[in-house]
Amino acid sequence: MQKVGFFRSIHTKFVLIYILLIIIAMEVIGLYFARELEHALKTNFTTSLEDRLNLVAFSVREELLKERSADDPASEKNSLRTVLSGFTSEDINEIRVINSKYKILATSVLENRGLENQTMKEDIVRKAMTTEADVDSTNLDPKNRKRVFVKVKPIMDGNEILGTLYVEANIEKVYKQIDEINQILAGGVAVSLTITLIIGIFIAQTFTRPISDMRRQAQAMAKGNFSRKVHVYGNDEMGQLAIAFNHLTNQLQESQSTTESEQRKLASVLENMTDGVISTDRKGRISLINDSALMMLRVTRDLVLNRPITSVLGLEQDYAFEDLIQMKESIALDFSTEEQPYILRATFSVTQRETGFVNGLIVVLHDNTEQEKIDMERREFVSNVSHELRTPLTTMRSYLDALADGAWKSEDIAPNFLRVTQTETERMIRLVNDLLKLSRMDSKEYELDTEWVEFNHFFNSIIERFEFSKSQNVHFKRLLPREDLFVEIDPDKLTQVIDNIISNALKYSPDGGDVRFGVTTSGDFIKVMISDDGMGIPKANVTRIFERFYRADRARSRAMGGTGLGLAIAKEMINAHGGDIWAESEEGKGTTIFFTLPYEQQQEDGEWG
Ligand code: ATP
Ligand code: MG
Repeated sequence: MQKVGFFRSIHTKFVLIYILLIIIAMEVIGLYFARELEHALKTNFTTSLEDRLNLVAFSVREELLKERSADDPASEKNSLRTVLSGFTSEDINEIRVINSKYKILATSVLENRGLENQTMKEDIVRKAMTTEADVDSTNLDPKNRKRVFVKVKPIMDGNEILGTLYVEANIEKVYKQIDEINQILAGGVAVSLTITLIIGIFIAQTFTRPISDMRRQAQAMAKGNFSRKVHVYGNDEMGQLAIAFNHLTNQLQESQSTTESEQRKLASVLENMTDGVISTDRKGRISLINDSALMMLRVTRDLVLNRPITSVLGLEQDYAFEDLIQMKESIALDFSTEEQPYILRATFSVTQRETGFVNGLIVVLHDNTEQEKIDMERREFVSNVSHELRTPLTTMRSYLDALADGAWKSEDIAPNFLRVTQTETERMIRLVNDLLKLSRMDSKEYELDTEWVEFNHFFNSIIERFEFSKSQNVHFKRLLPREDLFVEIDPDKLTQVIDNIISNALKYSPDGGDVRFGVTTSGDFIKVMISDDGMGIPKANVTRIFERFYRADRARSRAMGGTGLGLAIAKEMINAHGGDIWAESEEGKGTTIFFTLPYEQQQEDGEWG
């Protein structure tokens, strides 16, 4: 938590401002008051002095105007001294009478009598004498550092100036009074400031405490703690703010929990989706990827997070991230290997703000291998069928053309040509029939017409049929068990299967070769084996012989009238019986076809059928 400096805190600022305002107010009031007080006290002092001086001046003028005999020079001085002494008081230090020649005639102070008859030409006296008006001034007595009020008053007789009265008064008392009052004032200011300070601190606290509380609350909220509440101290603006703040906290908590639950929902949706989902930031780096996408791309999360999407999808050669943002159609990502097709379909959508600012990209991956495989097979199938039909039709057309051009007249050629067209027609019919069979099996339109059959007997009868009709020099070898093996099969369908396998074996068997037939049981299945000493099948193609139209050696197979559908039909039929069919082969040595059929051991006892 960041600490607020002492002088930066509102608390201190508030108290300081508060005190400052009080000081300014006090100062202004104090200044005005002191000035007024000083003025009033001084005026009081001077008017009281003035009043008395007027009286003194009157008496002194009387004495000065009195007719005196020349032989009694002391009489004037004495009477003046008497007048002056009558007016001495506590606040008057000294009164002197000075005549128009600046000679001191008399003084009220005993110790200063030595100054009498001396001249006194000080500025203030001279000024009063020349201006014939009162002159006063306040001086500091250098001896006792006290303020002295000096006043010089001219004594007039009509227009003639008789002399002046020089008065020194003790004004220090007035200043002392002012100082005392000022001290009282200062004391009052100090007390009121102390009280103000204490009140200020308390008032400031009422503001700052809720604010600090809210600050702590905001910090707690930032850490995800919503349980804390701000204390509401009153119903003032601060209280309202605290209430609003608590309300905000509740709202935030609610929206936070909804966001969290939405996020959890989204995360669980993403994790449980079979489609892969990847999202990127606005620079195209992967920020989120679900498990399905990881599995589809065969990567780990650590490996791809923050990597560019284009490189993870293997698109960096063909597309920049900006191209993917513009991409309206989905792209097929081909991760197929030689052995296995593997195709993903990627769909792109941009996450955008309302302003159009691109936030990122969302890529949805869908495993499209099956679909692509089906599409490919369908295309291949159509091309195969057209090819298979075209060859006999082209042959027939050329023969029919020849016949139409006149060959029909030749008794040697015509029957031959007609036979060829007949063979080709039969071949086409067989092909179309085979296709129909497969199509019926694909659409599950057929039903197995099953019955319980003893397999050894059933198998043997088919082998015998071939044994009787065969034209090649091939030896049949039977490796059949003695016990009865009852299986529930559709005899017609299984006859077709075995016919095809045996006819293949015969087709590819060399002169004097062996064809072996075997039946064994293993668990709940019987395993049938038909093997020959023929040319064999290349290893890579052994599994492919069960595909539609697949022929290891096209030319030879066609020459033998094959369509390449026999084993495909056989596989469908065996699968329909709940069994499996496969081949083992070695080139030049021979081929073995195996197939299994479900079988129930209890039927062995022959209690049924
Ligand atoms: P159809 O059976 O429709 O008349 P086909 O015999 O050519 O035509 P399949 O029976 O499906 O077609 O056989 C597919 C291919 O598998 C054959 O063309 C052949 O190349 C190969 N094949 C099947 N059996 C053997 C075998 N015993 N020895 C060698 N190759 C075989
Ligand atoms: Mg065949």
